[in-house]
Amino acid sequence: MWCVYLHAYIFIYVYIIVPTTFFLLNCNTQNCIINKISFSFPFLRQFPFKHLLPIDCRIKKMENKFDSEKVIEEFESLTKDTKRVQIETLKKILQENYEAEYLKKWNLDGRFDPQTYTSCVPVVTHKDLEPYIQKIADGASYPVLTGKPITTITLSSGTTQGKPKFVPYNDELTENTMQIYRTSFAFRNRAFPIGNGKALSFIFGSKQFTTKGGLLAGTATTNVYRSAQFKKTMKAMQTPCCSPDEVIFAPDFHQSLYCHLLCGLIFHEEIQIISSTFAHSIVHSFRTFELVWEELCSDIRTGVLSARITVDSIRTAMAKVLKPNTELADKIYNKCLGLTDWNGLIPELFPNCKYIYAIMTGSMEPYLKKLRVYAGGVRLLSADYGSSEGWIGANVNPDLPPEMTSFAVLPNIGYFEFLRLTSIDEIDSIEPKPIGLTDVQLGEEYEVVVTNFAGLYRYRLGDVVKVIGFHNSTPKLQFVCRRNLMLTINIDKNTEKDLQLSVEAAAKLLAAEKLEVLDFTSHVDLNTDPGHYVIFWEVSGDASDEILKECCNCLDKSFVDAGYVSSRKVNAIGPLELRVLRRGTFQKILDHYVGLGSALNQFKTPRCVGPTNPKVLQILCNNVVKSYVSSSFC
Ligand code: AMP
Repeated sequence: MWCVYLHAYIFIYVYIIVPTTFFLLNCNTQNCIINKISFSFPFLRQFPFKHLLPIDCRIKKMENKFDSEKVIEEFESLTKDTKRVQIETLKKILQENYEAEYLKKWNLDGRFDPQTYTSCVPVVTHKDLEPYIQKIADGASYPVLTGKPITTITLSSGTTQGKPKFVPYNDELTENTMQIYRTSFAFRNRAFPIGNGKALSFIFGSKQFTTKGGLLAGTATTNVYRSAQFKKTMKAMQTPCCSPDEVIFAPDFHQSLYCHLLCGLIFHEEIQIISSTFAHSIVHSFRTFELVWEELCSDIRTGVLSARITVDSIRTAMAKVLKPNTELADKIYNKCLGLTDWNGLIPELFPNCKYIYAIMTGSMEPYLKKLRVYAGGVRLLSADYGSSEGWIGANVNPDLPPEMTSFAVLPNIGYFEFLRLTSIDEIDSIEPKPIGLTDVQLGEEYEVVVTNFAGLYRYRLGDVVKVIGFHNSTPKLQFVCRRNLMLTINIDKNTEKDLQLSVEAAAKLLAAEKLEVLDFTSHVDLNTDPGHYVIFWEVSGDASDEILKECCNCLDKSFVDAGYVSSRKVNAIGPLELRVLRRGTFQKILDHYVGLGSALNQFKTPRCVGPTNPKVLQILCNNVVKSYVSSSFC
């Protein structure tokens, strides 16, 4: 009898299950129908057909377990108990690292509570920790900042200081990054669900190099993109990048960007999200699209990749996705021809794109205007708040416009303290005494002080944030500015936000001539007596002298800080100067930073260029085509 059963089993298996499985696998579905069937008909799970699934599909099943509600539940529970979670997080960090040279120095003697920690360990800046980080980079064979050895170094973008800083990196920071990604995605997905598909992600691996001690060094985002967890998380969040790895990690970011655009077009119907780390790179990418769209169409028409792509690994990878497709090429070509000033480019080319996602706050706000032109009606969702030194908070209210975005601090990814700023320079004059995460006051501004899992203890991040509310007991922070990005000569103090507002006011005059400010920065020129502000502009076309002169006056008048206005009135600060730059100057600045090891997606135009940044100042000064001096206050 058992022989009959065995034959029947083999017959069903070979003639029914195997062909059906292959048939289902060939169906164009991303949801692994087999999993669905076996879920609906539990008895089918008895059959050993799982091994017939391709690895990809098996992984998909594992990763499809992303459960937004569960992630939100975890976040709610953490933030309802912020104080306790902070105490535990600090204890965990100190327990893991108490044997490190740096912590031993402060005699914690096995006491890991916040009171002992904050009274024994000083508040520091990167400069104070630099010698320790250097020892690690040079290959110290004992625990310097962390108990476990640091194997990777992160290069911060260095846009404020002029050169990248070294920051220790470890797996815990990758895990924190994934937790932030999952948290904000869960809230985003609840508000704006997406289906299975792909993301056109303008992400770029930076150059990596090995330090003297043999540690790998690269940007924070490169370290994340190279981690196995990143891909897994992106897949689970239904947003795998549409470009192959060879494009993301290409040695030349111009070629990489071209291929990202090409892949986006090839998979245009599957694109659910357009994203990058910072909004600048999305705008930069579509500005590039405006220049190369015909070439991209020609590549799709012929199936032959442009000769501008010279890196073999990219050519080989792109050959797998690029096939001749006249119909698609014509479709894209006609859609582009039909657009006026590239208005609504994104919904036209990517009809299933649900939203655009990147950091759009702080120094990214000036790019929103252009991004909205490309986006047409597609929603802009602003991403989370973090830095090379670690993440801080997630955007858990994705339905708010980017300008109103705030970040709920995740209490288990670091120990957070806050230096109160009543006046922006006050903290330099007194012994800094930060307060804890749950002690911050609504409406107050603070500088963020971070203790993380990778060897930074009471580290001043240099960012100013404002508490605009609470999510349970964790504060919601709005980004205000970088502390050291400030225009000051006398008693005046203008932050990057003041500069942005002044540029926005003056740019309205240009808009009347259908021109826009492509990018801007500033400088304090103390070579004149008295010193004066210099604003550098790159403009999209030729503006008349008359308009530019008006813009210059408007810039000067739009700095409304009382210290500036009174100093200008008595000529303690000289007339503001507007210097117009040759087209392509900001591209040169971007190239300069990428050459130093930064990545396009992490790039932030330095909004104030000081003497610590002579190379960028030189690029700016060498590319001035016209300059105007304000006659306001005369
Ligand atoms: P990086 O040097 O590339 O690590 O850049 C980190 C810095 O970028 C932070 O210290 C902030 O100044 C800025 N930043 C990061 N996230 C945001 C955000 N969501 N909004 C505004 N600025 C941000």
